[in-house]
Amino acid sequence: MRKKSHDLQWLGIFGQRHLLTEEERETYQKLQRAYYGEAMMDKLVANFLANDPQCIDDITLKYKNSVVQIDKLLIVGQIAYIIDMKYYRGHYVFKNNTWYIGEKILDNNIFEQLRRAMRILQNLFNDNQIRLNVQGVLAFMNPNSTIDVVDNIDETVLTMDEIPKWLLKLPNNGTVESMNQNWKSTLRQYEIEPYRTKRTFDIEKIDQLQQGICCPNCHQYQMVESKYIVNCTCGYSEAKEIAYTRTICEYGVLFHNHNLTVPQLRKFFGKNLNERYLTYVLQRNFVLQKKAHNKAGYYI
Ligand SMILES: [Zn+2]
Repeated sequence: MRKKSHDLQWLGIFGQRHLLTEEERETYQKLQRAYYGEAMMDKLVANFLANDPQCIDDITLKYKNSVVQIDKLLIVGQIAYIIDMKYYRGHYVFKNNTWYIGEKILDNNIFEQLRRAMRILQNLFNDNQIRLNVQGVLAFMNPNSTIDVVDNIDETVLTMDEIPKWLLKLPNNGTVESMNQNWKSTLRQYEIEPYRTKRTFDIEKIDQLQQGICCPNCHQYQMVESKYIVNCTCGYSEAKEIAYTRTICEYGVLFHNHNLTVPQLRKFFGKNLNERYLTYVLQRNFVLQKKAHNKAGYYI
C-alpha cells in the first residue's frame, strides 16, 4: 500500500489530538484527496494491466544535485511512464503553453514539473545504460474535472474515466527486457528520504494534546486493554502490541524533531498507561540510546 506523505501523517495525527487551524484543515483535506487519487490509480493499474505491473510508487530521487519526487513510475516494455497525479476539480484548458481554469491562468505550469522529472530520469537511465524511454502522463484523478488540451504535446493527459482504456491499450507483451531488469535497483541507488514536514508542535505543550490510544476505527480514546488485546466501545479490537507501537509511532511523527523519551511518552499515553507494557514494547521494537547525562535514555 502507498505510504502517506509525512505532512499528511502529521496533520492526520495532530488533528486527532488537537484542534486544527483553518489552514491545517484545508491542507489536510487537500493532501487526503490527493492521496485518495493516487491510491485509486494504484488500484486501476493493478486491475487493468494484463501483466504483473512493474512499478515504483512515490519515490524521491537525487541525481546530480537535482531532487525529484515521482508519484508513480510504471515500466511497460521499453517505456518508463512517469505518472503525475492531480486531484483538481473543474474545467481545465491547456492552450498557448498555459493552463487555464475557466478564464483564470494557473500560476504554475503543471507540465513543467512533469517535464523536469522526465529530463532528470531520462538522464539517470542513459548514464546507467538502462535503455528505457521516459514518457510523461498527467492524470486528473478527480471525477469532477474535465480537461481540454488544445496545444500539441508529447505527454499523455488523462481524466479518471480515460485511465482504464489507456492501461488496456498498453502493449500486452510489455515485459521488461533483460538488459533493463536492474532498473529498480539502479533507481534505489539514487533514492533519498522523502520530504519531511516542517510542521512541529511545541513539546512543552504536550499536555494540551488528547492523551491515550486512539481507536483507528472511530477515533475515540476509549480503548480498554486486557491481557493481549485492546477493545474499543465501537467494537473494534486490536492486538495490544500493535496499539502500543502505533501510538508510539504517532508520538514519533508528531515530535519528529525530538527523541523518543519515556517521560514524554508517559504524558502522551495519559492516565491509562500500562507502564510495564510500554517498557516491554519499547524494548522489543525500538533501540535504546544511552546518553551519559540522560538516565531515562531515549529510543529511536
Ligand atoms: Zn472505536
